Amino acid sequence: MRRYSAFAIAREALRHHQGWERAWKSPAPKESYDVVVIGAGGHGLATAYYLGRNHGIRNVAVIEKGWLGGGNTGRNTTIIRSNYLQDPSAAIYEKARSLYETLSQDLNYNIMFSPRGVMMLAQTEHEIRGYQRTAHANALQGVQTEFIGPQKVKELCPIISLDGPRYPVLGALWQPRGGTARHDAVAWGYARACSDMGMDIIQQCEVTAIRSENGQVSGIETTKGAIRTRKLAIVVAGHSGVLAEMAGFRLPIESVALQALVSEPIKPCMDVVVMANTVHGYMSQSDKGEMVIGGGADGYNNYTQRGSFHHVEETVRALVETFPIISRLKMLRWWGGIVDMTGDRSPILSKTPLGNCFINCGWGTGGFKAIPGSGWAMAELVAKGEPGPLAAEFGLDRFREGRFIDESVAAGVAH
Ligand SMILES: Cc1cc2nc3c(=O)[nH]c(=O)nc-3n(C[C@H](O)[C@H](O)[C@H](O)COP(=O)(O)OP(=O)(O)OC[C@H]3O[C@@H](n4cnc5c(N)ncnc54)[C@H](O)[C@@H]3O)c2cc1C
Repeated sequence: MRRYSAFAIAREALRHHQGWERAWKSPAPKESYDVVVIGAGGHGLATAYYLGRNHGIRNVAVIEKGWLGGGNTGRNTTIIRSNYLQDPSAAIYEKARSLYETLSQDLNYNIMFSPRGVMMLAQTEHEIRGYQRTAHANALQGVQTEFIGPQKVKELCPIISLDGPRYPVLGALWQPRGGTARHDAVAWGYARACSDMGMDIIQQCEVTAIRSENGQVSGIETTKGAIRTRKLAIVVAGHSGVLAEMAGFRLPIESVALQALVSEPIKPCMDVVVMANTVHGYMSQSDKGEMVIGGGADGYNNYTQRGSFHHVEETVRALVETFPIISRLKMLRWWGGIVDMTGDRSPILSKTPLGNCFINCGWGTGGFKAIPGSGWAMAELVAKGEPGPLAAEFGLDRFREGRFIDESVAAGVAH
């Protein structure tokens, strides 16, 4: 595949952009593969990419029931940070964040990583203590964060009102190299690189059954026919429970719709990401100028990829206290994605009761930031059959053993 470069843009400009190749091929499925990955979201595509790049396994298919990136990967609010409390979480999220720093160059695809800084506001005494604790933990983990006071918050984000009627801003946990990236581009960049390695990305192809022989996975049934495989990676976020049932086991996962909304575009007024966990909302400004606003999760399990008006109302009502200027904005659209929540708010990267069948899920409301690190760790698990250091603590056995990795505070407003 031809590399994207300034020279290529100039060349194509001269010939009316007729010479661009398709970014990825759309082949029919082959009869068998060494590895099949179910789910062409960011995590599935990154798993395939690092299988090829780090482990030389390229006879791989990624099977997607809709269009690639059409699940949560294309529906999230793109916050990237690694300021988690527990060591295993900080390790995998920081690995991901550091891979994001050079991902555009690695993939030869501009994913628009913007390390503009992320702040999590402390609006109660309890939050101050919690975030100071996280800042200390991060210092020991080698993750660059600091606890800043209200004046620094105002300096970094002038549109904030420090004296909210209910919750004044008392400080914030600040991660200067956190930020955002273009979510679709992350999926597209990985897809293009996988296709370039000879892997098959098969869209509009739903997996309907998982086949096994003697306790080992042997293949899948899909809407485009049967496919044999020696190894299977299930990476389907909110649909993990459905796929696990096909493989004959149960997961400690709940699927709920998480919602977000964007405003009409306005002139640049905010060049950091702000999360306000007490009032429950968070906001950043997209390159187009829209205010990207994250809301809450539905209070009941469901598979409806929709937004709802009461969430818009609740989120905007809460955020208006801290950002009075948004009271004059028109909202453009809102939507939902089905997120996969574990009890300890930490992911699952694990072997399963079915031999050579592996699962990656449980990223819940905050897995976009983890995509490169998760793909890296999952590829190692699938290639070697055992988890490497990044995935070691995230096995399914932790739920049986009561060895939780509790991130319910760091997950915060949940991103
Ligand atoms: C509104 C919202 C805001 C969010 N904000 C953030 C944020 O700011 N920062 C952050 O880090 N995270 C955020 N997240 C979470 C993040 O989006 C997810 O954790 C992450 O995208 C999960 O990626 P994935 O690849 O695992 O899943 P997905 O992108 O959902 O991909 C899974 C794919 O599997 C496919 N699939 C399912 N069943 C089948 C089947 N039977 N056969 C074939 N294919 C199948 C689906 O079609 C889907 O494309 C947010 C999520 C939502 C919904």
